[in-house]
This record gives sequence, structure tokens and C-alpha cells, in this order.
Amino acid sequence: MTDRTDSPYDFDLFVIGAGSGGVRASRVAAAHSARVAVAEEHRVGGTCVIRGCVPKKMLVYGAHFAEDLEDAQQFGWTVENARFDWKKLRDTVLDDVTRISGLYTQTLGNHDVTIFDERAELVDEHTIKLSGGQTVTADKILIATGARPRIPDCPGHELGITSNEAFHLDELPKRVLIAGGGYIANEFAGIFNEFGSTVTIINRSDRLLRGYDESVRDRLLQISTMKGINFRFNAEFRGIEKTDEGCLRVSMTNHEDMEVDCVLFATGRVPNVEGLGLENAGVELGERGEIKVDRFSKTNIDNIYAVGDVTDRIQLTPVAIREGQAFADSVFGNKPTTVSYDCVPSAVFSHPPIAAVGMTEGEARNTLGDVKVYLADFRPMKNVLAGRNERGLYKMICDGNSGKIVGIHMIGPDAPEIMQAAAVAVKAGLTKDDFDATVAIHPTMAEELVLLK
Ligand code: NDP
Repeated sequence: MTDRTDSPYDFDLFVIGAGSGGVRASRVAAAHSARVAVAEEHRVGGTCVIRGCVPKKMLVYGAHFAEDLEDAQQFGWTVENARFDWKKLRDTVLDDVTRISGLYTQTLGNHDVTIFDERAELVDEHTIKLSGGQTVTADKILIATGARPRIPDCPGHELGITSNEAFHLDELPKRVLIAGGGYIANEFAGIFNEFGSTVTIINRSDRLLRGYDESVRDRLLQISTMKGINFRFNAEFRGIEKTDEGCLRVSMTNHEDMEVDCVLFATGRVPNVEGLGLENAGVELGERGEIKVDRFSKTNIDNIYAVGDVTDRIQLTPVAIREGQAFADSVFGNKPTTVSYDCVPSAVFSHPPIAAVGMTEGEARNTLGDVKVYLADFRPMKNVLAGRNERGLYKMICDGNSGKIVGIHMIGPDAPEIMQAAAVAVKAGLTKDDFDATVAIHPTMAEELVLLK
């Protein structure tokens, strides 16, 4: 513990942004005896809790009932008069978001972190001005302001929505067009499709989910198409206009115009750096508008740090949390810590979900040359019984010389749940032989991982 009572500053640490990274950093720094304040202009919890991972996953659960109810008949159940009430689900989800945000706020309070419910802006390297007019000083400053949806610069873009608004819709759109082919596009396509909307994804390239393994992406495209989701590739937005009937007419390159009721932009996220006064403190930005940091999350200014999406390293909540923790331990806990960005597992909560860790087959071939690939292409037992013609695909990629596993890629029910455990093995550098030496749990889907041929 450090005695900071003689500090000339109001706080030892001032955090801007109470999202995943900011909250973790605040709490841990406070536990290391720092006097901490955090400013949040919206709600404590940030993108993940308020308008991202958490409410999205709840909608995914809600959406999945559509298929479960359909499949139930094959398992002997008669489900009569099943109806879906969007407002009921929406409000349940929003209530839970409020509950979780409250817990985050409580945690900060329990650690004596001062919360300013307002916007903060740097005046200089140590001075912060709050939108209410108050000015405070801090020894260290952490920027954890996250990112926001990128909206294409086309005529009528203001007629579209982003994932931020999708959680608050008054009605489910009958026809929805989703721009983008990444995480958010595929997750919301699955959600809206299960709720009965007609969904079209339009993407500027001919590939979904860049960065994921090709076999798994192809399988998602095939299953999504089978479920009724429409795709238009090589389509760049030209514009949106409102028709006399109140619909939205969307024009794009290489395809005919489309009329829909809702346009959702899911075309990536840009770091939130505007209006923070970063220029007043001389904080440097990178080419993508991100705050440039070193491996200890320190900016070019000695006392100013940044973590999470605003640094655009890997835009994932658990990564931001680790960066926040590492920052607080390094700077206030006397324990220099960096984050390992190697083998970070990830998932797309599409229908069915995808999960991955490590290199894709293409990356492995380019990096290692000699690789061995093992595949399991199977129909999960539940799908067989339900008469659902949806196959799962598991793929393991190993270094051809050492047998070390360098990547695992999966699509199928519960793939993210299974991957979390498998990722431990990949991170630990285990081999295919280690997997083979492990007895299967039968009958499961996960057993395919230890039975790969
Ligand atoms: P992604 O980066 O996943 O995908 C962006 C998509 O938009 C790509 O298909 C990209 O095409 C396209 N695109 C990018 N710029 C433009 C443009 N100017 N005009 C038209 N299309 C464009 O972004 P998302 O918005 O889906 O998600 C943002 C981030 O949030 C993700 O990268 C992820 O890190 C995180 N996230 C994670 C989730 C999870 O962990 N399950 C869930 C949701 C979000 P192209 O491939 O050609 O570049």
C-alpha cells in the first residue's frame, strides 16, 4: 500500500468511462488504496452491460425458443397457441440490464469510488473538467470510453438504427435489412429471423465474419440461408429514403433497391475519442482514430493511460477487463502486469453459434507451412431427433511437426460454452495426443473434440 495522503491532486486516479475496462480498473485501483473517481455520462456498465453482450445474449435466449417450440413436437409435446410478445421480452431484458448496472454502481460505491454522472473532458495532463462545471485534478488518468457503431456516410443514413437502438424497438420490424457481415450483423440476423422478421444481410465484400475460419463461416452461411435469412454480397450502401407509405427504400451497388421497415447498421465500431480534450493533454491517436498505448496501456503522456475498445486492440469485453486489471495492478498494486493477446477465444452468438481460438487453417498454413487438420462434421443428437437438418462442424488445426494444437473452430449448439474449456488446453500448448488421451463423455457434442480423426 502506498500512502497518498500528501498528494497535491484531488484523486490518485480519474477514470473516464464506467464500462467493462473502466469499472474493473477503478475497483482494483481502489482496492490497492488509491483515491479513485470515475465519470460516466450514460449508465454505469458501458456497452457490454447496457447495449451489448448482456442484453444481446438475453435476446438470443429468447429467440431460441422459436426453434425449441417447433422441435418440441418431435419430442412428444403439444404446444398450443404459442405466441411471441416482443415488448414482454424487451422489458424483461431492459429491467435486468438496470439491475446489473445497479450492481456495478454498488460495487464501485463499496470500494469508495466517487462516481460523477456526467461527461468529463481533459483540460491538461492532470486536470479534468466535468460537464456540470466542476474541475478536479488527478495524478493518473485512465481513458476507458469505449467505441460506438460506425454509420456509413450515405444519404439517408439517419433513417437507420444501430445495435444501440435495437434493444428499445417499439415493434418488431416485419422486414429488416442489416448492413455488415460481422459479429453484430450475424447475431441480430439470427435474433430477428427467429422472431419472424424477414431478414436480409448486405455486406460490402463477399465474406462474412472476416477473421474466422472459412469452413465455419461457410457452414453458418449455409445454415442461415436454410433458416430463411437472405444475403446480398458485394453490396455497398448508396442511400436510404423514406417512401410515401413510410417504408425505407435502400439502394446499394450491384443489387436492386429493397424496401424494408428497418435498417440496422452493423458496420464496425469506432473509438470514442471526440470531445475528450485529448489534444489539450497531447495524447496521440493512431490511424484508426484509436488511442495509442504501449503494452502497459500507457499513452505517450506519462500519467495518462487507456484501456478497452478506445485503444482498438481486441474489441472484446473480457480483454478490456484484463487490460483494466493489469493497469490497476501495474500502476497502483506495484505488480507490473501485461495482457497476453495470444489465443484469445471468441464467439459469435449466431443461430447456431460459432466459437474459435487460435489460428484459422489459412493463417496456420501461412505461418507454419506444415499443418494437420482434423474435422468432425456431425448432426447433434437433438437435431436428429427433432428432424432438424443442421450439422455441427468442429475443426482442430495442429502444427504438423510438434502436434501442438494451434487453433480450434466450432459451429454448433453451445459451441461457445464448449470452447471456453477447450481454449484452456490450446492456451496451455497441449497437443492432439493430449486430447486423444482424454476419455470422452458420452453422449455429448463436446466428445467430438477428443474423438477427432
Ligand atoms: P465487425 O468488425 O465484426 O464487422 C463489421 C462488418 O462491417 C464487416 O462485415 C465489414 O466488412 C463491414 N464494414 C466495415 N466498414 C464498413 C463500411 N464503411 N461500409 C460497409 N461495411 C463495412 O463489426 P461489428 O459492428 O459487427 O462489431 C463490432 C465489434 O464489436 C466486433 O469487431 C467485436 O469485436 C465486438 N463484438 C463482439 C461480439 C461477441 O464477442 N460475440 C458481439 C458483438 C460485437 P469487411 O469484412 O469487408 O471489412
